[in-house]
Amino acid sequence: MIQIYGAGVAGTFLYYILTKNGYRCSIFDFRKSPDCRCGWGIAYKEAKDLYSEIDLDLDEFILTVPEKVFVNGVEFKNRGIAIFDKIGLLSELWKGFVFREENAKIIVDATGSSRAFLPKIDGDRVVPTLQFKERQRIDENIYIYFERHGYAWAFPLGDEWHIGAGSVCEEKIPYLIKKLRQSYGLEEAESSCSCRAKIRMLPPSRCKPFVSNNIVGVGEAIGCVSGAGEGNVPALKSAKILFQCLENLEEYEKRILKELGWIEREQKFLDSVLRGFPAFHLLFRIILHENKRLVRHSIFDFLRIFIAGKPRP
Ligand SMILES: Cc1cc2nc3c(=O)[nH]c(=O)nc-3n(C[C@H](O)[C@H](O)[C@H](O)COP(=O)(O)OP(=O)(O)OC[C@H]3O[C@@H](n4cnc5c(N)ncnc54)[C@H](O)[C@@H]3O)c2cc1C
Repeated sequence: MIQIYGAGVAGTFLYYILTKNGYRCSIFDFRKSPDCRCGWGIAYKEAKDLYSEIDLDLDEFILTVPEKVFVNGVEFKNRGIAIFDKIGLLSELWKGFVFREENAKIIVDATGSSRAFLPKIDGDRVVPTLQFKERQRIDENIYIYFERHGYAWAFPLGDEWHIGAGSVCEEKIPYLIKKLRQSYGLEEAESSCSCRAKIRMLPPSRCKPFVSNNIVGVGEAIGCVSGAGEGNVPALKSAKILFQCLENLEEYEKRILKELGWIEREQKFLDSVLRGFPAFHLLFRIILHENKRLVRHSIFDFLRIFIAGKPRP
């Protein structure tokens, strides 16, 4: 018997892939409905392939595919980011659950930034965010305003926009949102929902142990979040790797560190940005990786953002 705690992206996917493959499995989340905090952007192709393994058609949950991504006014062509209805997708998967806690041989910590079951991480970095939904009348692109300590975003959701910001300096979050509005002409508008959240911005190598006694972590609980805050596909990937390593957990850590090695590079780059000295030598491999899956960009675009990159109104 395997007990999963946390029915977010990683926990739900793991539950379905395990039960589909004959494992006895139970899942529990302390929420009554899926967490509504953002997470609307997804690397479409990878997510589509992964979700097909549990017979879920991601296309049914795609809200829009923006043509462009703007970062501090610099325009990028979107290659692979889709905006999906994360709450709708999770709600559909939750229909198959009766939340239960069972005595189990293996406990899975899929509790995201809470990491409620694995030992706490020394020097953990959990970044606060603030987000809300509102109506706007601008073109359906992704808009980002970035500074060294964090960034603000506006994601189109079809009828509404998801607007928010995260920063290591919590007090600067309203300022980032204000700058985003000024940079792209987003008017102040009434929000239909608003909440605060947290995101773990540490690479897997700094979130050890992944396994402690009979507890094993997955997803954001073990740092599967990119340097840009992308955690959906990494959560799915880590759940798949855990499924493949269940009979041989010694392999798990090695495989996560190898197959999600790109996250290590991106988080290292983020560290350097936070210190005020961007490690441009890391960019070649980061760009090579992200060019294919997210947005088309080059080292010159990074330089425009970091050196010259003041947002254009
Ligand atoms: C504001 C914000 C915006 C984001 N935007 C994006 C984005 O656009 N694209 C992207 O790819 N990623 C995004 N992310 C990151 C992404 O949402 C997460 O990394 C991803 O959801 C992690 O998946 P997970 O399953 O590991 O954890 P989560 O999805 O966080 O799920 C954890 C689950 O555990 C439950 N839980 C917590 N504690 C307990 C407990 N003690 N017992 C039982 N259950 C518990 C919670 O209720 C929750 O359902 C964003 C994150 C934030 C905060």
